[in-house]
Amino acid sequence: MLRRALVTALLALTISATLTAPTQAAAASPLDAVKTLLTARAKAEVASDRAAFADTIDPQAPAAFRDAQLKSFDGLTSLPVQSLSYDVRVDLIGDLTRAVSRSEYGGATVYLPQTIRALQFTLDADAPGLDDMWWTYVQRDGKWYVGGNDDVTDLGLEPTESMWDLAPVVTLQTPHVMLIVHPENRDRGQALAASAENALRTIAQRWTLPWPGRLVGFVPSSPDELATIIQATIDVKKFVAFISYAFDPESLRATVPRLYVQDTNLSRYGTAQQTETLVHEFVHAAGAAYTGPYTPAWAQEGLADWIATGLPKPEAPTPQLNDTPPRNDQFGAGSQTDIVRAYRDSKSLVAELAVLKGKAAPFDFFKAMGADIVRPGNSDYVVDKSLAVLGLTTGELIGALRRG
Ligand SMILES: [Zn+2]
Repeated sequence: MLRRALVTALLALTISATLTAPTQAAAASPLDAVKTLLTARAKAEVASDRAAFADTIDPQAPAAFRDAQLKSFDGLTSLPVQSLSYDVRVDLIGDLTRAVSRSEYGGATVYLPQTIRALQFTLDADAPGLDDMWWTYVQRDGKWYVGGNDDVTDLGLEPTESMWDLAPVVTLQTPHVMLIVHPENRDRGQALAASAENALRTIAQRWTLPWPGRLVGFVPSSPDELATIIQATIDVKKFVAFISYAFDPESLRATVPRLYVQDTNLSRYGTAQQTETLVHEFVHAAGAAYTGPYTPAWAQEGLADWIATGLPKPEAPTPQLNDTPPRNDQFGAGSQTDIVRAYRDSKSLVAELAVLKGKAAPFDFFKAMGADIVRPGNSDYVVDKSLAVLGLTTGELIGALRRG
């Protein structure tokens, strides 16, 4: 299963149109002052300087907000952080300040731009993971502070909650994997990290494109916790694990992928099947660098299942397959049977591609799809174009699978 966020680019159109109507002679933008505040905040976090961090919180904020901020600080500073920084911008989704009720801040001047956290752990290869924070900034006696985080939830912009914001965490590290778990799950986390190392050895034999080969993963204690931290729009109880990444707003390239385990389900499987599941997920992680925002789910899931199950031959199509490959929504919505069929048909389409054009063809196809930065609405075009390079059409691929 793969979860991708296209936070910044997609929201831009709708929200800025609603909220950033022209305003009369606006005061000087607090953007630079807020950037200075966040530089101090990041510095305090990296240095584990709790007092300096506390100085960045609105002195008039409710105790609950202040306590949650400090709890987040304590959790984050318990982790092996390589670098941390914040970017503040209004060019992607606009200035959201008009959505803030100033009376909640005692009538003080407030500011709500987009805040992007770039957090890199020591295990991360060469780039950070990105998260939107949606903090509200408030000015008191000329100084800016972080004052709130839930003023735009009505717009669907939920506060980012990380595992360490919710409860204490520990890290379990093997040569290529770092798992973040709650302390009571330490033993289970160690077993999972060992399975993950096995999965990485397997993928090294089957995945042929360069990738960093290491990963940071999260093992929440419950499906509800998982749903909170990934802001799930699907029923996580149906799934066993996710790879999640966003697309960098500038380059539209994938940010560092993260693993999320739905262990209520995964832990029910035998060890071999757990490892196979992790191989599937790691294909998504390895493929992130070759993925564009509109690489379709069937190509992602088909490739992941084909590799995880040992590069098998195609199976006969299910009754669900029609003239086109499974649609993106068929991998998350519908009954369990329907979802399983979407995966199976996708795996067989990728396997058929390997039968027709050789074992390298699925990789060449995948790479070709991600090579162009795709724009909204032309996913079909990119699939067709990428198959054409191999001398095939989608119709011919499906036809060959049907004939068996
Ligand atoms: Zn998947």
